Amino acid sequence: MQTHSRNEVAVTDITNAHKFIDADTEIIAVSTMDPLGIGPLTMSYAVLFGGDFYAWVRAEFEELIARLNKLRTGKKAKLVVGGPGIWEFTVMRDVFERLNIDYAVQGETEDILDNLFNQIIEGRIDRNMFKVGYTTFDEQFHPKVVEDEKFIARTSYGACPKLEEIPTIVRPSIKSMVEIMRGCGVGCDFCEVTLRPLRYYTIDMIKKEVEVNIKEGGANRAWLHSDEFFGYKHAHSFVPNEDALVELFTEMMNIKGVKKVNPTHGRISIPAGYPELVEKLSKIVKAGPTNWISVQTGLETGSEELAKKHMPTKTLPLKIGVDGSWHEIVWRGLQTQTKNYWRSAFTVQVGQAEETDEDNWETVALINKLSNSYVDGRPFEFTVTPMLNVPLGRIKSHEFSKSLLNRTQIAVYYASYRHLAKIAVRNIGSESKGNIATKAALTGILGIGSYSMMKFMELFARKAGVDIHKAKNFGIEHKKRIESVTELINS
Ligand code: SF4
Repeated sequence: MQTHSRNEVAVTDITNAHKFIDADTEIIAVSTMDPLGIGPLTMSYAVLFGGDFYAWVRAEFEELIARLNKLRTGKKAKLVVGGPGIWEFTVMRDVFERLNIDYAVQGETEDILDNLFNQIIEGRIDRNMFKVGYTTFDEQFHPKVVEDEKFIARTSYGACPKLEEIPTIVRPSIKSMVEIMRGCGVGCDFCEVTLRPLRYYTIDMIKKEVEVNIKEGGANRAWLHSDEFFGYKHAHSFVPNEDALVELFTEMMNIKGVKKVNPTHGRISIPAGYPELVEKLSKIVKAGPTNWISVQTGLETGSEELAKKHMPTKTLPLKIGVDGSWHEIVWRGLQTQTKNYWRSAFTVQVGQAEETDEDNWETVALINKLSNSYVDGRPFEFTVTPMLNVPLGRIKSHEFSKSLLNRTQIAVYYASYRHLAKIAVRNIGSESKGNIATKAALTGILGIGSYSMMKFMELFARKAGVDIHKAKNFGIEHKKRIESVTELINS
């Protein structure tokens, strides 16, 4: 079977696509993450505004597809989409039909992509090699297979390339991001990533990719992507592999041209249980007041009950109850991070299965506690973004209304936006770049923006009947009382 060589493939943006699409073009392939604007983050904003929500990302995706369809009219080129956002087409199948896309491909494909493209070109899908259809999940997150002529998937869900079948990048990646592993293995019950087999990139593979970004992309940093950085080559019971993490950071910093190294995702229990490790890593990458290490962290909930129910291993090797409460573990982790100039971008979920009002108030309490905590005289550094688990049935019916959020879920949103406004006002001035006038303008615009969003949320919460006083103070009343007594004594 024919194999496509490097010079037969062009990677382009839509502005330049017309230069490459002609009568000989066989496949136009598009990768997408949130094509129809129903990804968790987009939906989290949608529910605040209600109505039949039509996200900007969807408008952009539909425009892209319309332009590609125009460019291929009268030509033989097949239009194929892939990437992590394919599930959205399975949920909004009618929209997918209207887009005039030939195939949606589900799953990782590096090892079979050339073969698959050849089969699509020849109009003959080998059913021994591929499934014509897709895998979806029910409300309990159980997989089920649906036959569909427009979808192609691996014969079994989770089938994917072995490490040695994943090629390293040959051209610079967006934002100089490189993968260090695939899969996660921690096993949170709401997460699809954990269903994929674990594969760790070797140091040589990672170095090779970083060098491409440095030499050809003009980058000066290694942005190390995974879904759980502290899990890189981890030992049993999710004990972090200190040697592997130290080697990874050291080798990256030793690459000529690298000034900054930053992981993308990491869980909070490792800084809580292994502060010396975080300190060691911070020294290697020279973390400091002008070099913060930003990392995304799925905090998910402030509720101990929900944490134990949905993500019992996310805290390992620490155990909730044995090594402290969930609040204490998070607090200690963030304390270590702030001390060592790491900044977590937390996400919290509302709408998890079996969630109660008390669970949501526990999340409000945790946000308030963290937002009012200090280490070495500095406030804890973190952002927090609330996300909503929207049932698939509601997405299908397009019924996005304010009623999707109940009162205590809105309280979680409000507490999050209050903290975001606070941190924006505190940090924008010191961290924005440019001359004094630019800094002042940026501070003003972003400060007003985050304050307005917080005020919008406050109004929204008041209208929904949220107890605003409680949302502002839940979890910190005791601390406030001690502070006022201390103040009284000292006055
Ligand atoms: S730790 Fe993160 S990536 Fe891993 S299973 Fe849990 S949510 Fe998914």
